[in-house]
Amino acid sequence: MTANMPPPTLSAAQAPLIDPFARAIDYLRVSVTDRCDFRCLYCMSENMTFLPKAELLTLEELDRLCSAFVTLGVKKLRITGGEPLVRRGIMTFFERMARHLQSGALRELTLTTNGSQLRKYAADLAALGVRRINVSLDTLDADKFAQVTRWGRLDQVLDGIAAAKEAGLRVKINAVALKGFNEDELFTLVDWCAAQDHDLTFIEVMPMGDLGNEDRLDQYWPLSALRARLAERFTLVDLAERSGGPARYVQLTQSGQKIGFITPLTHNFCESCNRVRLTCTGELYMCLGQEDMADLRAPMRASPDDVLLQDAIRAAIARKPKGHDFDYSRQNVAGQMTRHMSHTGG
Ligand code: SAM
Ligand code: SF4
Repeated sequence: MTANMPPPTLSAAQAPLIDPFARAIDYLRVSVTDRCDFRCLYCMSENMTFLPKAELLTLEELDRLCSAFVTLGVKKLRITGGEPLVRRGIMTFFERMARHLQSGALRELTLTTNGSQLRKYAADLAALGVRRINVSLDTLDADKFAQVTRWGRLDQVLDGIAAAKEAGLRVKINAVALKGFNEDELFTLVDWCAAQDHDLTFIEVMPMGDLGNEDRLDQYWPLSALRARLAERFTLVDLAERSGGPARYVQLTQSGQKIGFITPLTHNFCESCNRVRLTCTGELYMCLGQEDMADLRAPMRASPDDVLLQDAIRAAIARKPKGHDFDYSRQNVAGQMTRHMSHTGG
């Protein structure tokens, strides 16, 4: 470039997504189905009513929506659900998304799964460029696993995780901290992940959806308490690193193992939030803890080009709130959400 040439500028259509609080939005989580082969106690009721299939976006439409976000600067795409790997044809969708990895537009394509279908799909996912996956696993006890997932089988999930490892996928285990349920397995989970070379993150249970007779306050095991328990055996060093998400990390001096904590209720991570969530019906949630959402299905279907769609995405990002209102203080679940986690994908 010569000295008197103006610097290249982005056209309005290419400008990255920046919200009103100067946060760049470059991470999209997409729930591709609300259905699941498990019925985890904290996530779903036993008799869930799922969306009629006709309400779901087609895989082609999900491709179009995700691709519009990639055009607008989204660099990381996490596919979730429900259970993403039970959606029919899901590998076709991953194949389509892989083209954005190949072009360099997308930095990371990943998924969060309960692991039940990994034996079938892990090698294909790895071949398409998926490098890391999150697998949810709250207990290593087969009976307790059956109890918490209602319909799941531990051996199937462990076999799926083994398949992922064989395929060269890096596995992060996500365990929901549940009072009186997996408190006694804290060190078992930590030691197992160390032995298997899996990363491990604990998640605080969040007040989502109306799950019938389960009392989430009863399940709430604050990660501050979990951390204190961990410190009885290990020396914990806080790490400054952030994954661009809500997790904070500590390193165990004795083993070098890193443990993540996702504490939406006791810590405010909203100031660095870089993400939005898309549901399988085309609703865009700008915050996990707020009801406000934007419908992207109508502007997408209204025209074959993406002008209306991109305008709708920008208008939604301009409404992204500063933060959420969850509060468990005084034994009162304030800011409780009426939608289920499986709707927005966690
Ligand atoms: N089915 C996949 C799975 O279980 O990994 C993906 C969807 S699931 C809704 C995503 C994550 O949300 C899981 O790690 C699950 O444990 C977590 N989750 C579900 N309900 C939750 C709740 N009420 N509080 C905290 N985490 C929850
Ligand atoms: Fe299904 Fe995941 Fe919800 Fe469990 S947490 S019921 S596996 S969507």
